Amino acid sequence: MPEFNPVRGMRDLLFDETKQLNLIIRHARETAKSYNFGEVTTPIVESYELVSAKSSDEIRNRMFSFQDLGNRMVALRPEFTASIARLVTTVLKKAPRPIRLFSVGSVYRYDEPQRGRYREFWQSNYELMGSNKPEADAEMILLTNYFLKTLGLQNYFFKVGHIGIVKGILNQERVDEKTQKEVLHHMDKKEYDEAFSRIKNDDLKSILQNLVEIKGDDIFVITEEMSLLVKDYGEAKNAADNLIEILRLVTKTGCPIDSIQPTFSRGLEYYTGMIFEVQVPELEISLGGGGRYDRLLELFGGISIPAVGVAHGLDRINLALQIQDVKVKDQKTKKIFVIPVDEDLKIKALTITEELRNSGLFVEFEVMGRKMGKALEYANKRKMDYVVIAGKSELKEDSVALRNLLKHEQVTVKLENLVKKIQD
Ligand code: AMP
Repeated sequence: MPEFNPVRGMRDLLFDETKQLNLIIRHARETAKSYNFGEVTTPIVESYELVSAKSSDEIRNRMFSFQDLGNRMVALRPEFTASIARLVTTVLKKAPRPIRLFSVGSVYRYDEPQRGRYREFWQSNYELMGSNKPEADAEMILLTNYFLKTLGLQNYFFKVGHIGIVKGILNQERVDEKTQKEVLHHMDKKEYDEAFSRIKNDDLKSILQNLVEIKGDDIFVITEEMSLLVKDYGEAKNAADNLIEILRLVTKTGCPIDSIQPTFSRGLEYYTGMIFEVQVPELEISLGGGGRYDRLLELFGGISIPAVGVAHGLDRINLALQIQDVKVKDQKTKKIFVIPVDEDLKIKALTITEELRNSGLFVEFEVMGRKMGKALEYANKRKMDYVVIAGKSELKEDSVALRNLLKHEQVTVKLENLVKKIQD
């Protein structure tokens, strides 16, 4: 018999790993609530046409796509944005603007597996559609900051850029679309010689070179310098000023920004404005990223809706929390194990079990018919907080024995006081 393992790039998440992922998801959901984003659930399987419409070649070539039994070309979602764009251009077309949508779940990309890079991974995704104002951009950075801060992550830092600066210069110099893509791609990867080799105009080359060379510690000095450098390029100048305004909004509300990356494009071709990523010093890969994509929704429904969004990589955030040895706060819920002492007490014991569950406690019922000693041994191994022992004499008095496994104490408790006694 072969020994079966998960498919390459896929993982089983056992007990504590699933618990930890769920804790992070809970924080992501709380963040959505704090910023009033409504949660939506969209299918994992989408039409290939939909998910490939907006994707860059980089993502399109790494999709899990296949023909279903009805001969439709479908794909496992490589991210959430296409599904959200589908909603906003169809069923939510008339929803009051701005539309704030949150989703969380697994996404699929045929990436080369390594630490922090998987083929199935979890993202929390926030999209704010209908506003082209810098405060909407700022909110994406602020909510990312809030999420990571409440998780307890340390030393994370933001890199921010604006795709409109380089694009604005290239547009005004009438550089064709294909060359623009190549230039942006190489600049994003910091392959400047490769990028500049595609540009014939020497003045243009030197402007881009100067842009790349702007350095400094103060993000406002850098961005003001950028704005000055591109002052003769209307679109690029607006982009630089827009970036300054976003940075002002974010930093004035207490979220520090560490570096400005004028040539940053995040590999995703659909960005049109501010873009950002967040990292920790211990890992070279980004924990999350996003930006503005004002023209994307036209691709889906012909309607033009400005939009800004962010996706957080929950597996990488988890990895960063582990490296930093941060314990994410849990809502502590007591775990209870209920043991009927005799066969004929099962029904009564199961009734008590259901009542405890209805009170919000996590309760396991003894389903193996074990004797008390063995059942208690099991409860200890499973790190239960309490054991409820339903014995004949106690039940006659409408009571049970309640054993605190941590303190090794046992008391008799009236059924009506049981939940209160456990929760005290
Ligand atoms: P993107 O959707 O490409 O903007 O990515 C958003 C976030 O998803 C990244 O910042 C990563 O944290 C995470 N991510 C992207 N690709 C992977 C992967 N293959 N494995 C784990 N996390 C990933």
